[in-house]
Amino acid sequence: MFQRFRPDAIVVENGFFIPVERKPLAKKIRDRHIAQLLVYMRLVEEFEGKKPPYGYLIIGKGCRKVKIHNSAGRQQWLQKQIDAMREIATKGAQAQATPHPRKCAKCSVRESCSFRNDTGEEFPVQIGSRGEQKLAVQSSEAVS
Ligand code: SF4
Repeated sequence: MFQRFRPDAIVVENGFFIPVERKPLAKKIRDRHIAQLLVYMRLVEEFEGKKPPYGYLIIGKGCRKVKIHNSAGRQQWLQKQIDAMREIATKGAQAQATPHPRKCAKCSVRESCSFRNDTGEEFPVQIGSRGEQKLAVQSSEAVS
């Protein structure tokens, strides 16, 4: 999930170091984008000793700027994702496939795949188990 461990930029606003991450090819915000920014906010807090209250995602060709609040709920969500990855990496826990139906529809091995998603519905990114709430971006966070 995290290929690089530094944000594209850090700006200073109201005395806080604010991480900024660009996603020029993205058409919409994904949970993985938010997760990456949350990790950067953790790292900034660790190195600067001050928790950034938010970070920015810059989305798409139009450079839409979205403020992502660094809330306790989001950090708890991130921690669950990290814990789940750790379980898979260190204890051999089974990773849960959440394929998108469009990908499965075009997949060459779909007939023999037990994870195939032909429900027509995208599985939300999970918090622990299926059916829990997707990490939402509130409309108040859209900056431009
Ligand atoms: S059919 Fe199976 S292998 Fe192909 S995209 Fe879907 S989950 Fe992945």
